[in-house]
Amino acid sequence: MSTDVPAAARGGLRAERLTVRYGGVTANSDVDLDVRPGEIVGLIGPNGAGKTTFVDAVTGFTRSEGSVTLDGERIDALRPHERRRRGLSRTWQSGELFGNLTVRENVAVATRPGGVGTLFRDIFWPRRRVDGSVGRALSLVGLGEEADRLARDLSLGQQKLVGVARALVGTCKLLLLDEPAAGLDSAESLEFATRLRTIVGEQGAGALLIDHDMSLVLGVCDRVFVLEFGKLIFSGTPDEARTDQAVVAAYLGVPMENADA
Ligand code: ATP
Repeated sequence: MSTDVPAAARGGLRAERLTVRYGGVTANSDVDLDVRPGEIVGLIGPNGAGKTTFVDAVTGFTRSEGSVTLDGERIDALRPHERRRRGLSRTWQSGELFGNLTVRENVAVATRPGGVGTLFRDIFWPRRRVDGSVGRALSLVGLGEEADRLARDLSLGQQKLVGVARALVGTCKLLLLDEPAAGLDSAESLEFATRLRTIVGEQGAGALLIDHDMSLVLGVCDRVFVLEFGKLIFSGTPDEARTDQAVVAAYLGVPMENADA
């Protein structure tokens, strides 16, 4: 874990008693979870456990009860773009890239809101600053040399990293990564883990990593939270998760003593 955390990134994310209801389904139930700056935290659980719902709630894309703080300030009443401006960034399960645009352009869209806002932005936020932020994000994810290539010509692993670069542009204190390794082979997944560790170390931001690739999550994370049916059933280190009875049962669907079978 990085010990050299830039001042701007001190604080971290804390969700307390976060609850999300979709009709009769309680998709998150009193979830308490925190991510400190410079830390990679895993959020795992079986399909439908409520992982994406948690990210949607924290980022303001779905209605929730409970509190969310970033850097010690409540953000749960803010709209998604306001939370983003405060430094809460997410990636999406489906990469959302524009294949016909270059890598640089794909990342720059995060800085271009469009409309009258863009006009004022161009006046008060000179292009140099925007380009600098995009260039820095691309080099953080290791794609500095690929900036002028079309997004569609990149490997899937590289495309995922473009999505991460987009999330890093501007202020990024906390990175929420929703299944970034989906579709990657094990070598690409390992490469992604190495890159993520570098990003978090250099950026000083915290990261919440959701993925079904257990070797990725247990290999790269400092701490892990496990959700089942919307409730947290475990928090601890990856080593503790590997041997926790409730975690093993949630994943294998059998009690620990029968797990080998
Ligand atoms: P996966 O690993 O398959 O992506 P998940 O752990 O991310 O699953 P969620 O997608 O958060 O789980 O779903 C949690 C529960 O909430 C599920 O029962 C799901 O059907 C339900 N759910 C999710 N989004 C909605 C929605 N917009 N409206 C109604 N129910 C929803």
